[in-house]
Order: sequence, then C-alpha cells, then structure tokens
Amino acid sequence: MSENSMDYIISYCKRRGFVFPSSEIYGGMAAIYDYGHYGILLKENIKNAWMKHMIQYRDDVLALDSAIFMHPKTWVASGHVGGFNDPQVDCKTCKARMRADHLLEKFGINADKQTIEFINEELNKIKATGKLVCQNCGGKDLTEARVFSLMVKSNIGSPTDALTEENVVYLRPETCGGIYLEYKNTVDSIHPKMPFGIAQVGKAFRNEIVARQFIFRTREFEQMEMQYFHHPKDTKELFENWKQTRWNWYLQYGILENNIRWYKHEKLAHYASDAYDIEYNYKSLGGFKEVEGVHARGNWDLSQHSKFSGENLDYFDQTTGERYIPHIMETSVGLGRLFLMFLDNALVEEKIVSEEGKEDVRTVLKIHKDLAPIKIAIFPLLKNKEELQSGARKIYNILKRNWMCEFDDNGNVGKRYRRQDEIGTPYCITFDFDSLEDGTVTVRDRDTMKQERIKIDELAKYFAEKFEY
Ligand code: ATP
Repeated sequence: MSENSMDYIISYCKRRGFVFPSSEIYGGMAAIYDYGHYGILLKENIKNAWMKHMIQYRDDVLALDSAIFMHPKTWVASGHVGGFNDPQVDCKTCKARMRADHLLEKFGINADKQTIEFINEELNKIKATGKLVCQNCGGKDLTEARVFSLMVKSNIGSPTDALTEENVVYLRPETCGGIYLEYKNTVDSIHPKMPFGIAQVGKAFRNEIVARQFIFRTREFEQMEMQYFHHPKDTKELFENWKQTRWNWYLQYGILENNIRWYKHEKLAHYASDAYDIEYNYKSLGGFKEVEGVHARGNWDLSQHSKFSGENLDYFDQTTGERYIPHIMETSVGLGRLFLMFLDNALVEEKIVSEEGKEDVRTVLKIHKDLAPIKIAIFPLLKNKEELQSGARKIYNILKRNWMCEFDDNGNVGKRYRRQDEIGTPYCITFDFDSLEDGTVTVRDRDTMKQERIKIDELAKYFAEKFEY
C-alpha cells in the first residue's frame, strides 16, 4: 500500500488512534468518524493555530460559539431550505450514490451552480458515448440526476411528536448562520468599530452524497469560519488582504506553495462580488481539492435576516454619521479537511541507516512542531532501574505543565523513537546513567534524528525556544 494512498492514511489513522469509523461495532455509519486520543490532540492544535492567527494575533476579530440549533426561519432567510441541494445519481446495479457534478468533473465539465436540466443534458451526452460508469462497480445502468437536499432535520419537543412545519429544526449546515444572528448582540455589547470580524469554530451537518473520501467529506464535521463586517467601499482591498492572510497561514504551517492554488469561481452567487477557494493537492485524493473558501458576500446575509426577522441590522458609524448594512467577507474552512491535508502532507516512509549501519524504513509524520499531537516524549533508558524511572518522571512532571508530553518505558529506545516518529513527536528525551552523574539528558530531533546533551535545568528554556507556543 503506497504512503500516498487514502487506504494507507485510513489504516494509519486507525492503527495509531487518530480517527476511527463511528459506531464500528454496529457496522459503522457512512461518512461519520470519531477522533481518538492523538486525533483530538492534532485537531485541537490545528484549531488553536487558526484561533491564534484569526483572533489572538489580531485586534479586529472577536470570538463566538453559537448553538447548533437555530430558529428554523434562519435557514429560510439564508436560502438553505429548498435551495441547499446537490445533484445525485444512483447506480441501479450496486445502489451506490454519486454526485452528478463530480461525475461531470471527470469529463472536464464544470457543473458548479448549474441547473438539474443542464446536468442531465451533459450526463446524457456522455452516456451516449458509453463512457459514463458507476464509480463503485463500473456498471453503466445509472439513474437520471435528481436534486437531493443536504439539510439534516431534527425535532425539538416531545420525542413522540411527528415532524411538522412548526417543530422541524435543522442541524446547522454551516456555522456562519450563528454569526449573522449574533452580529447585533456583538455590536450592542462589545461596540467593535468597523471593520471587524466574528470567528467561530463548531459542528455543522450535511446530508452529503459521499463516495469514499474519508474525513474530506463527512456528514458531521467542524467548520472554522470568520465573517468580516465592513463598509462596501473597502471590499476590494480587504478581499486581497484576507486572501493573502489565509494563504500565508498555510505556508506558515509547512504547506509548500506549489501544493496549494487559488480556484476562482466563475459563476458567482447573485449577491457575491468575488469568490476564491484555496485548493490543496491531496495525494490521497488524486489532485487539487477545495480546502477553504474566501468569499465576498455583499450585504445579502444581513439584509435577508433583517427582512425575515424584522430587526434593523444597520450599522451606525458615529464618526461619519453614516448608517448602512455592513458587507461581509467570509473565510470558511473545514477542520477535517485541514486534518487530512496535514497528514497527506507530512506522513512519509523514509529510508534510514541504523546506528549499526543497517538499512531500514521509518514511518514519520513530519508535521509542523506546533501542530504535533505530542510535543515531547520522555524515556528512562531502562524500565527496571528505579533511579532512571524517577529521574525521567521528574522531567515529565515538569514539562507536561507546558507541553503535551508522553512517558514511555516500553521496549528498547530505538522502538520508542519509531513509535514517536510515527505520531510526529518532534523531540524525545532519554534519561540514562550519565544523567545521574552530570545532570544532562539526550534530546533527539525527529527530523534530523540528531541527538544532543542538554542540561536538565535548561530543558524548559530549550523547548520554549523550539515551540512558538
Ligand atoms: P464542496 O464543494 O467540497 O462540497 P462547499 O463549497 O459546499 O464544499 P462550503 O459550503 O463553502 O463548501 O463550506 C466551507 C468549507 O467547509 C469547505 O471549504 C470545506 O473545507 C468545509 N466543508 C464543507 N462541507 C464539508 C463536509 N461535508 N465535510 C467536511 N468539510 C466540509
């Protein structure tokens, strides 16, 4: 199995406790996944890296955590009820479901925001050539494309109530809806000056038509979205700034410039003035795919919510005396897609020569140090020597207050290095007999595999310089 394949990443994630198929003992659920110990640590670090750059290092973006359940009218106003659909094709032989626009994409036809009539016309042309086949079984007996709603319904109230127009609620299909609805409360309570942003990270739900894309496309996922409220005269300049800011974030965390690119939306939503996606070249998905959207959305969102709620959502600028509905710039990224991107980018099988001069292969996750699930692993050289155990434990107990650490005394040190390399731990410390004598330990670097002796008293300072936070 090649390290570039999706099967390799899926099996790595399960074997090393990053991601598990949900409800597996009951046969699993399509496109729903659970994150295990190392998965959570990595996911939190990615989230943290986003929060730091989007909120902490700036002074113009505020945080929010809005509820998943929102008033049903929210999604009528936003156009999701009735309008948030994907075209679906079924295979009559194996019953697999496929996105019709993705089938067309394979033939170089862009069906983004096209009508179902257009999609069926194009599919029929390809069908006539005999080249249209099921992506699962290769069968040629496919249904016409039909519209499939992505909204996930639930109900609130008595569990025995049937779903009616009155009690139906949706699990939010995107997190930004909550930001629009809390725009007024944020302005009234915190009084931010224009332009300003509101950012939030949270779960979203879509009834996706999926075809084996692991955590790239799931039915329950986390989004990290930021809506930047501004005066329309500033849209052009802000759009360029945000594009640059988001692009730099990827480079900062180890994604190479030739592995990301901008995709410009040619067919814009009627309210949008510009829309670009950042695409990453996923080896595991066979090419460039959308990770993040940077979109200029005009004042459509607040106008719609103002119209449907009857609330005045104008912004009053006290310096100019101007009153207007702010325009919005959006950056929107899926945490699962970033997670997969970082694994796809960093997981390698590397040929090495062991200390005895033997050729070997190590699996190593060469992820940016600040994203690594475990930052430092601490080993006593031998398991059954009390003085080595207690010396190593002492270091572990001090360092774990600042960094996520792991104590490991299982097997020989070489095997412990391999285990830590595999999960991307940047540094391993070994406490040995010399440590008892001279108060130093060996610190081994994941990428260079070089070792150096560092004074135990200076470890905290040493690592403070190695990690940004
Ligand atoms: P796609 O065209 O791939 O379905 P989209 O254009 O519908 O994505 P948006 O609605 O713009 O996606 O959502 C913003 C971001 O949220 C996406 O760029 C992606 O990172 C993430 N995202 C959207 N849908 C999913 C999903 N089902 N699973 C995981 N992440 C998702």
